[in-house]
Amino acid sequence: MGSISGSRRVLLTGACGFLGSHLSDRFLADGWEVLAVDNLLTGRQENLAHLRGDARFQFIHHDVTLPLALPGPVDLVLHFASPASPPAYRRHAIHTLTTNALGTLHTLEVARACGARYVLASTSEVYGDPDVHPQGEHYAGRVDPVGPRSMYAEGKRYAEALAMASHRAWGLDVRIARIFNTYGPRMRRDDGRVIPTFIVRALQGQAILVHGSGHQTRSFCYVGDLVEGITRLTTLDGLAGDVINLGHPQEHSILDLAGMIRRLTCTEVPIAHVPRPADDPHRRCPDISAAQARLDWSPRVPLQEGLRHTIEWYRAALSADGAAADASGLPQLVEAQGVELDAVPHGRQVDKGVAGA
Ligand code: NAD
Ligand code: UDP
Repeated sequence: MGSISGSRRVLLTGACGFLGSHLSDRFLADGWEVLAVDNLLTGRQENLAHLRGDARFQFIHHDVTLPLALPGPVDLVLHFASPASPPAYRRHAIHTLTTNALGTLHTLEVARACGARYVLASTSEVYGDPDVHPQGEHYAGRVDPVGPRSMYAEGKRYAEALAMASHRAWGLDVRIARIFNTYGPRMRRDDGRVIPTFIVRALQGQAILVHGSGHQTRSFCYVGDLVEGITRLTTLDGLAGDVINLGHPQEHSILDLAGMIRRLTCTEVPIAHVPRPADDPHRRCPDISAAQARLDWSPRVPLQEGLRHTIEWYRAALSADGAAADASGLPQLVEAQGVELDAVPHGRQVDKGVAGA
């Protein structure tokens, strides 16, 4: 298969977040110029601080619910901006919906104006609480349109519909990545998703809190594998209009994950059970045959190995800042520290080569 060529400048929204920061590194390493856009709602500038001074990297502090005016044309748009953890999207429900509706529209308009390729970060959440297993791309999902996770699931379903309509109506080269649970360094320790939460609690000697019985399942992909999958989906030719699952096809119960993290952190912390959130999907595992066939991609990093790297990263991060946080409040920290929608910076400022501040 061929690959994208030309001046190679990418607009990456959500660049200060977990996945966006790793994608920034990858695209710079592959010779691209990166225009990084973020409103810092859940992302952190320190995720990109190491890029300070790189002339090919530009940070634009902007909320994509507002139209974007870029300093120049781009060849590629990667739309990754969106709250992604359940506590964050519940806290920022309206913002999650508007980011996936208006933010997707505005970034599609940029792609249209520039004749750029467009990649949407969608999610396994579009399958809802699935009654088909594993989930293939043709499965339409089982989502409650007014349920407690609907702001995220329906927001992403709308974003997919808008992206696909732009492909059909405007002839845009649109690709959709349905990303399943991905983990690794740089996810906020107070993000609320299961892996950082379990690791940080174990490292701080706090009980690991499993929601419900822990028999619900997820499949966890290491960030390096996911970035490789996104890179292939983005750069290979002949994929316009494709929707592709990216994730690890091995399923684990949350209780098994808790035991594994306790073992790998060498801690004796108890595993306690707390009530399970409403609408929490029971099983989730991707059918990745399309990614294997179309991208020649499948994840390589086994869960234990990825967890070891991730644990070491959190251990270093915690010891660097004194490890003072009280892990018992982690799922609530997003709630406590979250920025109200009205307080989200709506201004636009461009800092060439500056990520940290
Ligand atoms: P994250 O919260 O770390 O990153 C999201 C980034 O988007 C943050 O930097 C945030 O500040 C920014 N953002 C949010 N709203 C914005 C707006 N209106 N304008 C500009 N920036 C905005 O989450 P992540 O895990 O890196 O997820 C990135 C993307 O990948 C999201 O779209 C998410 O839905 C998708 N995804 C991630 C996973 C995963 O397991 N990590 C799984 C499925 C889908
Ligand atoms: N979970 C848990 N304890 C936590 C956080 C999450 O047991 O502290 C469970 C959660 O109920 C879900 C699974 O772990 O069943 C994955 O949750 P996460 O928020 O990481 O992602 P989701 O796949 O639900 O979006």
